[in-house]
Amino acid sequence: MTAAEKQTMGFQTEVRQLLNLMIHSLYSEKEIFLRELISNASDAADKLRFEALKNDSLYEGDSAISLRVDVDREARTLTVSDNGIGMSRDEVIHNIGTIAHSGTKRFFERLTGDEARDARLIGQFGVGFYSAFMVADRVTLQTRRAGAPADEGVMWESTGEGEYTVENVHRPERGTIVTLHLREGEDEFLDAWRVRSIIHKYSDHIAWPILMRKEDGGDETVNKASALWARPRNEITELEYDEFYKQTTHDYEAPLAHIHSRVEGKQEYIALLYVPRHAPFDLYDRERRYGIKLYVRRVFIMDDAEQLMPAYLRFVRGVIDAADLPLNVSREILQSSRDIDAIRAGATRRVLDLLAELADSETEKDKYQEFWGEFGTVLKEGVIEDQANRERLAKLMRWSSTRSDEPKISLAEYVARMAPGQNQIYYLTAESLGAARNSPHLEVFRSRGIEVLLLTDRIDEWVMTHLTEFDGKPLRSVAKGDLDLKGVGNEAGEAVTPPEAPEMKELTARMARALGERVKEVRVSTRLTDSPACLVAGEHDLGMHLERLLKAAGQKAPGTKPILEVNPHHPLIRRLAAEAEGRRFEDWSQLLFDQALLAEGGTLEDGAGYVRRLNELLLALSPAS
Ligand code: ADP
Ligand code: MG
Repeated sequence: MTAAEKQTMGFQTEVRQLLNLMIHSLYSEKEIFLRELISNASDAADKLRFEALKNDSLYEGDSAISLRVDVDREARTLTVSDNGIGMSRDEVIHNIGTIAHSGTKRFFERLTGDEARDARLIGQFGVGFYSAFMVADRVTLQTRRAGAPADEGVMWESTGEGEYTVENVHRPERGTIVTLHLREGEDEFLDAWRVRSIIHKYSDHIAWPILMRKEDGGDETVNKASALWARPRNEITELEYDEFYKQTTHDYEAPLAHIHSRVEGKQEYIALLYVPRHAPFDLYDRERRYGIKLYVRRVFIMDDAEQLMPAYLRFVRGVIDAADLPLNVSREILQSSRDIDAIRAGATRRVLDLLAELADSETEKDKYQEFWGEFGTVLKEGVIEDQANRERLAKLMRWSSTRSDEPKISLAEYVARMAPGQNQIYYLTAESLGAARNSPHLEVFRSRGIEVLLLTDRIDEWVMTHLTEFDGKPLRSVAKGDLDLKGVGNEAGEAVTPPEAPEMKELTARMARALGERVKEVRVSTRLTDSPACLVAGEHDLGMHLERLLKAAGQKAPGTKPILEVNPHHPLIRRLAAEAEGRRFEDWSQLLFDQALLAEGGTLEDGAGYVRRLNELLLALSPAS
């Protein structure tokens, strides 16, 4: 078969599924098909301008780029065309017949059955072209790649039912024209006024002119067709900022906040950056794309320029337009460019300042809590990764505490209400808020009225290994090391037994012998008021919770042994001190250790042994019947 022949080919399975969904399940907001086709046409125009930087013969003598939308009532067609980069036959087969990125599977996973929501998802998943089949029962695409001979034009056609055809056609014009043969009942898209209003709604900020035919036959540009970010701030309304965001990100919600700054000096650039209201579905996906578009002097260079934002700000969307970069900058160049490093550092600062502004403002506080709920976990990565901004980031952190689940509090708020005599910031890490609240480690803090931060995100453990102090106050785990609370908070009612009391010395020594390898040490606790015992980690050990996390993640944990602390005032401990029988003493000790392990969310290595010992002791305690 020669390349020119007509070929009938089957869509990839995922494409079939997707088409099926478009045609049979999505009925609301069908109008977004136009946004998708215009966005593709605009991308094609961007690509042509970019490639022509190196090879201006691609313009074929015509460098005026524009997009067109036309309706033909007689033929019942709507067409979207561009004189952009176009596609070769292979590219058509690859780009239109298959879905290249792994987004589709995740797209299907996210579908809710709520049509309005699902329709909105379409654009976000990069499967936009197929949305044409929501309103068309036949779609024809004719294209020719810029620079290719006229007989390498390609015609693609499909009814959206599993197969498509491709054949070569003669096509003098470069670029692409997509023709939609509208389904019955979709006549609204033949109405030029209606089409115009859809373009205003979704595509006003496309930087290329979108032309439509006027009543009297001439052409007119129906969109604004200018780069919003290049306009002065005071000439842009909030609504325009929001619309620009929605149109470029395909998000249906307005953003939470934005910054627009023109930076002069060593590196000159304009940044228009947005914080979305909601986290994208793939925020934690390693393959996830970044949200910054790079322009150089208004020329689009690339999407997802990951060098322009640190990983922990990957949710930020928007545009950076650099004045001094070479137009032929590539991803490889970006990776090792000092200029880019400087732009990233500046843009990062600006985003952090914006967040700080939200966080500190009395009126925007709720917004910040909302932000934190969506992106807090990601922002925490910054404390670990971005040493230069660590202090700034520390101020942005929010955690629950023994005094407040919601709203979560800042370290500054914590410090401002520290107990008398307190000069450290106390925290506890745990699997969940419930587990944290019931932890025996909190007992003494509760009785002394000292607030403790409750950290329940997996990443918190790592954050704490990097955040050692705030405002000159060390951060301290309540489950680690020796605790000296002398003179801190309210001491009334707390009987203090000196750890060196002889009967306690003897008890802890016997317990240490009984527990052998399971513990590093047994000692008298200053942490406990109600529980008989708890486990703590050495001052410089990883901590039990982190060890468990590491193991759960399949990583090697150092396997540090815990310290068992006992409460000298607890009746069980007092009884144990009086226990003379060796076997019974050992069982008690093991039980106390296992209980302490369970209480902090650990799992027993020998659950059956625990049950046996517990039952034996229960039997020994209860009066024989
Ligand atoms: P996305 O735009 O997210 O890649 P689409 O389904 O909208 O997904 O388009 C798929 C691909 O088809 C595009 O990436 C592009 O390569 C190609 N394509 C679509 N429309 C055009 C066009 N007008 N000109 C050139 N290529 C196009
Ligand atoms: Mg697209």
